[in-house]
Amino acid sequence: METSLNGLRFRHYYYSVRSYLLGGNPGRRDPRVLLLAVADVVAGRVRASVSMGVCPYCGRSFTSRSSVKKHLTASSCCGLQLKNDVYAVVEAYVKLRSVLRGSGATRCGSRKCRIKVYRDGRPIYFKNAAELARWIKEVGLSFLSAF
Ligand SMILES: [Zn+2]
Repeated sequence: METSLNGLRFRHYYYSVRSYLLGGNPGRRDPRVLLLAVADVVAGRVRASVSMGVCPYCGRSFTSRSSVKKHLTASSCCGLQLKNDVYAVVEAYVKLRSVLRGSGATRCGSRKCRIKVYRDGRPIYFKNAAELARWIKEVGLSFLSAF
């Protein structure tokens, strides 16, 4: 089980998730469909709120998305809550990865890879990461209890 991450990889996940939640587009070179699916499920309301110009934590309205971003960087209280949400996403993603590794799916980005996930003791197979990502979005937070 992968329970801890080295600092570099953690920082990479952390900043990918943070910028995604603040309305950024996922990078084209490294789409990380699973990471973003987990972000949508665990903290999608943050992204939705920021895109409407509203702080997801204190409810203050701003004229633009970039002002919300500034507020979340400047306000220690709301900023801390954002940090917690980003951590929660990364934690759930690391848990997901450790399970995928345990089931032998080491190359889940590849097209040939079959991913096996157990739910209620029964295996469910996915062709690839994109398919697993769709399933995660479909079942919502309960995906966490599948592992
Ligand atoms: Zn706020």
